[in-house]
Order: sequence, then C-alpha cells, then structure tokens
Amino acid sequence: MSLYRKYRPLTFAAIAGQGHIKRTLENEIIRDELAHAYIFSGPRAVGKTSTARVFARALNCSTRVAEQSEPCNSCDRCTAILQNRTLDIIEIDAASHTGVDNVRENIIAAARVAKTMLPYKVFIIDEVHMLSTSAFNALLKLLEEPPSSVIFILATTEIQKVPATIISRCQRFDFMRITPADMKARLMMIVKQEEKTLDESVYDDIIRLSDGCQRDAESLLGQILALHDTKIDAQLASLVLPHSNRQLIAKLLDAIAARKTDEAISLIDAMIADGVDIETVVNDTIEDLRSLLRIQSGAGDTVQEAKSVRESLEELSKKLSSLEVLMIADYFAQCLQDIRLFAHIQLPFEIAVVKSCLRAQ
Ligand SMILES: [Zn+2]
Repeated sequence: MSLYRKYRPLTFAAIAGQGHIKRTLENEIIRDELAHAYIFSGPRAVGKTSTARVFARALNCSTRVAEQSEPCNSCDRCTAILQNRTLDIIEIDAASHTGVDNVRENIIAAARVAKTMLPYKVFIIDEVHMLSTSAFNALLKLLEEPPSSVIFILATTEIQKVPATIISRCQRFDFMRITPADMKARLMMIVKQEEKTLDESVYDDIIRLSDGCQRDAESLLGQILALHDTKIDAQLASLVLPHSNRQLIAKLLDAIAARKTDEAISLIDAMIADGVDIETVVNDTIEDLRSLLRIQSGAGDTVQEAKSVRESLEELSKKLSSLEVLMIADYFAQCLQDIRLFAHIQLPFEIAVVKSCLRAQ
C-alpha cells in the first residue's frame, strides 16, 4: 500500500495545515449549523477530498457526543463509510461524468432517494468545474431546493470555471498550499511511525520539490523510505530525488554574480555531463533567487532552507543588488517557459545564464 493511502488522514487533526478551514467546519459540526452545500477550492493534493471525507464521517458518526467534532472511525456508521459499504456517501469524479445524463442519474436520482442508514446523505463531487453547462444547471436546481439531510461538497482546482450561480449557493473555503512547517511535522510523524530516521536535508529537499502538495511529499517520502530499513541519508535519498546539485547551483550563481561567463558555461557543461535534470536545476535556481530577495528584504527568517544553503545564500546576497537578482530571476523564469516549448532544453538554459552574466548594472 502506498504511504499516502496508509496514512490517509482519518481525523481533522491529522490533516496537514488548513487550520482556519478545519476550525470553521468543526464549529459548524459542534453547533449543528450546517450549510446545504460547500465548495472547496485550491491547488491539487492539499487535502480537499480528505477534509470532505472526514467531514462526512463526523456528521454521521453515531458515538460523537456534544462538543466533539471528530469522527470516531470505529462505530458501525464510520466503519461502513470507511469500507465503502453505504449508499449514503456518494463520491463522484466530475472529470469522468461530464454529461448531463450522468448528473441526472448519479446526483439527482440519488439525492431524491431517501437515505438508507445514515443521518446525512453526502455528495462529494470532485473536479466539479469539469461538469458541462447543462450538468451545472441540473446541479443548480438541486442547490436551489436542497432535499433535507442532503449535503453537497464540491471540490475544484479551478474555481474560476465554476458558474457564479453555483458558488453563491455554497459556503466557500479556499484551501492553501501546505506550509513547510506543517508539511515537515506530518512527514516527521510518518517517519517516526515507520521507525526510520531521515537526514534533515532530505526533509528540506522533499518539501522544496513538492511545492506545498502534501500528497506529492508523501509519495516522494514513500519512495525514499523504501530505500533502507532504518536510516536514510542525503546520498541514499538522491537515488530517488530528482537529481539537482545544490553545490553546482551555488557555484553557478557565484559565477553569474562575478560576471564570469566562461566559468558559468563550463559549469553548465559539467551539469549536462553529470546527467542533471535541467528543469529541476532551473527551478531550484529560481527558488534560490527568491530566497535571495527575501534575505535582501530583511525577511531572511522566512527562508526555508537547510543551514548550509542558507549561509551560502546570505554570502551571495552581499554580491548582488536586489535589482540584479530580479533581472536574473526574470531570465530564468523565461527560460523555464522556453524549456517547455523547445525540444533542445540546453539552449534556453545557456541563454538565461549568459544574459544573467551580461546583465546591465
Ligand atoms: Zn463513528
């Protein structure tokens, strides 16, 4: 079983981040002040579906007492939901149900059918923005006159594609990317449960690479933990982590700061010879430039980097003005776009590096 499935959060407390959303939902459960429809928007893999599932169980849990907002996950109802044995919790992936007929069959028909065993019938419609216009109209009719004890939870990564008429009938929650601190806390919990140890810098790498997506982080962690029975250091983890050499990037930025074009180009050649993934290098360089700007703006303590990386960035921040860092960041951002367009990815990378070396004062 994948790590992500094994550690799928079963309670609000176990869901990484999203503090304000969890608090509001838990309060609604405790006060019994539920909306008929909710819409969860936000990037992929940040806990929207997990939150919807915990919410659906908490509403229906038979042992939950007053002032309690978490599901017990062991009563007959919680177990039935966890084992997909109830017809009252209906999960629909709109990405594969775009026709109006499917919505009629799966949503309207099911919503009209009386609930079978649970107090609340809950529809969780994932990627709701994928519904067709006519499907949205059918859904809208339901939201306008919601059957009693039916709750809709709509989830989407593209809220701008959801009609305003639907959004206005839902209580809206905007999910955020998971912060490095929240992500690390959960990764550490999993590592501990698996009875393994992980180098500090490996956590940093996972967090940086997964860009606030908890599922991506846990999937990377799973691959890394599979490498060894007990202890995993940075070198071992590099077998799995996309290969990007932080030291080479530091040298590259040093050469750029000193305007040494020849040295910068031979560093590129060394990276290519090393089989480094260029897109990862470019992404990491942009990430370093972003950290540089933060350090130069006096917000250095918000930089989430390993100590050694941070020290070399602080050194570098003295050699470049903020204006120069912005210019270089622009060149690399352009490079990232070009890499995705061209088959020959070394060229845009070289152009960005040379432009950076030749930048205006
Ligand atoms: Zn329960």
